[in-house]
Amino acid sequence: MVEQIKKTVLKVNSISKDFMNVKAVNAISFSVEQGDIYAFLGPNGAGKTTTLRMLLDIIKPDSGSIEWNLNNKPNQVPDAEDIGYLPEERGLYLDVPILNSLVYLATIRGMEKADAKKSALDWLEKLGLADRAKEKLQVLSKGNQQKIQFVASILHKPAFAILDEPFSGLDPLNQELFIGFIKEINNQGTTILLSAHQMSLVEKIANKLFLINNGQEVYNGSLPGIYQSFGDKIIIELQLETPFSEASFQNLKDIESIDKIDDFRVKITFNLQTNLAKVLHDLAKIEGICDITSHKPDLHDIFLQLLKKK
Ligand code: ATP
Repeated sequence: MVEQIKKTVLKVNSISKDFMNVKAVNAISFSVEQGDIYAFLGPNGAGKTTTLRMLLDIIKPDSGSIEWNLNNKPNQVPDAEDIGYLPEERGLYLDVPILNSLVYLATIRGMEKADAKKSALDWLEKLGLADRAKEKLQVLSKGNQQKIQFVASILHKPAFAILDEPFSGLDPLNQELFIGFIKEINNQGTTILLSAHQMSLVEKIANKLFLINNGQEVYNGSLPGIYQSFGDKIIIELQLETPFSEASFQNLKDIESIDKIDDFRVKITFNLQTNLAKVLHDLAKIEGICDITSHKPDLHDIFLQLLKKK
């Protein structure tokens, strides 16, 4: 079978940005291919929003270059009709009826008014907000405002959507709903670049990841790839009756790391080759363990391991 070659729609070459004495983004490079759901993951202040703003030419990189190629238009800055942007500081008009806002924004991004209205009404129906189309955004709950902000950014069916923290401020039910929306627009042909710090959510949708910390690359590659490279670890979590003390664990053998989760919980990482029976035997000698669970590393565990290595 001939493997389909995917088209690169965004190529970022070693971009950097300093603010005063903060290296917000430090020589990062990555490529996004058509159809990707590419996630930028990192803690607060890691450099995610700064990166996304540089891609959109809201701020200029100090060095490096950005090459877009959406709808066969090689460009340094994408055309408004080809791009959707959900900014971190949500910026929709609060005192304009929702439907008017949505239709207006889609038309200035190249959509016919009738198509925009139909599409907006379809989305409002899907969100269970059809009966509120004539209300102003400010009267909606925060979660519903966020849904409208999301629709506003993608209503014109852009080739590429940049979603800065799409899950922030949402309850778990709405987070799941957003995962569904993102998958849906991706299935309909929109390539996605999103930023988040909720690793457990990103694990559910992204096919590629860029882990960033202090403006620097920690990992850049496929989601399956990161699991493969860390697939040889096993994590045991212990619940303790008394506060954690490192001294109680000093006789354990073949440990990669011990990480305190809180005073009464500890996470021990072993190599998969470790003899688990022996480990359990040794753990049984330690007093005050009231619960044991084991699991393969999730994205959060892997991120912490990678940071330690750096
Ligand atoms: P968060 O998840 O909290 O939104 P982030 O990963 O998006 O964080 P950035 O907002 O890109 O991080 O910030 C990266 C660093 O650059 C931080 O130290 C931040 O304080 C700094 N920074 C960002 N914008 C500016 C600015 N306009 N002026 C000065 N410093 C800035």
